[in-house]
Amino acid sequence: MKKNQIMHIGIDDTDSVRKGCTTYIAALLIEKLEELGVRFIDYPNLIRLNPNVPWKTRGNGALCLRFQYNPIFEDEIKQRTRNVVENNSDLQSENTNPGIIFLIGNKIPQEIRIFSKKVLQGIVDLESAIKLTEKYSCDMIGFKNCRGLIGSLGAIGEILDCDHTYELISYRKLRNIGKVRILDKKSVFKMDELTKPFTFNNVDLEKMRIIITPRGLDPILFGIRGESAQIVKKAFSIVHPGEKIERWVIFRTNQGTDAHIKKVQKLSIIQPYQSILAKGIVSKNPQIIPLRHVIFSIKDDNSEVDCVAFEPTGSLRKIARKLIVGDEVEVFGAVRKVGEEGILTINLEKINILSLYLKKKLQNPICSKCHRHLKSLGKNKGFRCDKCHEKFPDKKKEEIIVNRKIRKGLHITSARSQRHLTKPFRRYGLEKTCQERINMIDEWHRE
Ligand code: ATP
Repeated sequence: MKKNQIMHIGIDDTDSVRKGCTTYIAALLIEKLEELGVRFIDYPNLIRLNPNVPWKTRGNGALCLRFQYNPIFEDEIKQRTRNVVENNSDLQSENTNPGIIFLIGNKIPQEIRIFSKKVLQGIVDLESAIKLTEKYSCDMIGFKNCRGLIGSLGAIGEILDCDHTYELISYRKLRNIGKVRILDKKSVFKMDELTKPFTFNNVDLEKMRIIITPRGLDPILFGIRGESAQIVKKAFSIVHPGEKIERWVIFRTNQGTDAHIKKVQKLSIIQPYQSILAKGIVSKNPQIIPLRHVIFSIKDDNSEVDCVAFEPTGSLRKIARKLIVGDEVEVFGAVRKVGEEGILTINLEKINILSLYLKKKLQNPICSKCHRHLKSLGKNKGFRCDKCHEKFPDKKKEEIIVNRKIRKGLHITSARSQRHLTKPFRRYGLEKTCQERINMIDEWHRE
């Protein structure tokens, strides 16, 4: 028997809106596993899955712990994991169906990695998760309808070998859960200032609000997101919490990476529950619908689809309002079926304006002496200057290009309404795709 082996534990669907959080269960489990002498080979992974699944509780997050262990403790590790999940899940809630999967081995099979991509970008069924789990001889524990096994396997298969970020999550004392979260707001703005651009989504500068605290009944006090473990730890030391922190953990995650977005070549192939990036020409001008949402349509060679910028998207909604027929855009967003007919609509997260239609209008010509706009004397009767009274019988209306007051390029929904996976402006250019980037960030920490 090998002395040391690698185990990956995937966990999902442990909480409900009234209780708990899967990241907290991972935090408790880390402690229990450390008692058995395990050596973690990665930060705990917090993997956000398809944000459009209808049965998610909040942010569709699943967890994976990866570590080296002594095989004599294998059964004990599994038993402890089961106990922690069972004792801390909200099993009373109808919508909570925990799943745990244990995969043993250094490498994650390619099929499981592909499965993860599907869980992130589409909808998968429980049978396919179970089949794959059995094929690779993984032990699994499912509670109730076992749906959590989908996310558990999804978390194991996402090894974050491309772009990724970190989040330091701090947890409240149990007795404070449900009470208003107390945090020195000024210290959060200061932290943002001192750590930018290497942390993100700390504050909403449009509303001057802090956005590191969740709102629900979960045990999280606040979470700080950033490019490295060092920077989120530094940022944490700048924030002044007004209540005791029970524990904190740094997770490696796919948050802020746009990993949910699938680029599609044609509008005709978009499907409900996907998050897509599609190109088209604005084909119907924006309209404001009830609750101040903005709706417009885009089309390509053979399809047309509605796009909606909801009121909370803030600055994105303002941009959507200014589009006109003929603008060429790329839209990013979730595909939803709307109404009884099931019309597909894209709920916008981002708009990239590729080209603006040249909007022209006719205006009265200018007086050659006074440089003021002339007054019309009636159809085909020419113009007259109000100031110098000179008449210009031969002048015609002039065509001018309207200033659209909108810029080409990328526009993103306001920070307060961004999804966990949405890549914010601050991260553009910081993606971890090559070693240079990582070195650059490390250097910054050394300063
Ligand atoms: P929290 O963020 O508070 O941990 P949550 O929002 O992650 O909660 P869950 O309670 O985990 O929500 O519920 C999501 C459920 O959907 C899980 O059972 C998970 O296995 C399943 N699921 C996740 N992604 C997919 C998918 N792409 N297709 C089908 N089922 C999925």
